[in-house]
Amino acid sequence: MPVQMVSQTIELLKEELPLDQEFVLFPEDVVTGLVLVDVINGFCTVGAGNLNPTGKFRGMINESARLARLFCDKKLPVMAFLDSHQPDKPEDPYPPHCIAGTPESNLVPALRWIENETNVTIRRKDCYDGYLGSMEADGSNVFVDWVKNNQIKAILVVGVCTDICVLDFVCSTLSARNRGFLAPLKDVIVYSRACATFDVPLQIARNTKGVLPHPQEFMHHVGLYMAKERGARIANEVSFGAPK
Ligand SMILES: [Zn+2]
Repeated sequence: MPVQMVSQTIELLKEELPLDQEFVLFPEDVVTGLVLVDVINGFCTVGAGNLNPTGKFRGMINESARLARLFCDKKLPVMAFLDSHQPDKPEDPYPPHCIAGTPESNLVPALRWIENETNVTIRRKDCYDGYLGSMEADGSNVFVDWVKNNQIKAILVVGVCTDICVLDFVCSTLSARNRGFLAPLKDVIVYSRACATFDVPLQIARNTKGVLPHPQEFMHHVGLYMAKERGARIANEVSFGAPK
């Protein structure tokens, strides 16, 4: 499809599926947690690994790192999911990626410092969904414990990919919240400017065996829309402070 037709299709999509985004203010007296989804080299660093990330993740990385600094300065809880796979366990339909023990499965350079912060919990996961990836063999769940131990009332979710790991985590979290597993968690907020997804244009997918088309802006929008359909709030601006 020519570039112009792609952009017309995106305009049409945004007309048919309008996404109202909001300014979200976090009150200083309520515990808000930050969840960083897969802001790791294999997905976000140019030239790293099989998924061949592009420079289009720069804005998402900068915004995620800014928020991580803000949350760490306030000693608020931060949880970081890191996609980490064993070499003999593929994750279809994607090529091998983010193999445990390689730099691909580590945080991007702009976020590596959070590993030394006492308010940060790092969770390596070998599936799309960070909620399921937090389950231990004994049935306990590292994410659920993190919410309860810190008495978190709202979470801010950022990272990649908007329509895959971010969305899956948000869907599971909202179902678990609705079933009462996550008290006192109330709000799940996805911050669109700190989320991103990858780009595989149709003409490239057609010529590459086993690769699905994945137009970036289109799928980013759909991912946010589907999160909203599950009951997430979608923010295009976030801040701390008292309401004016
Ligand atoms: Zn993976």
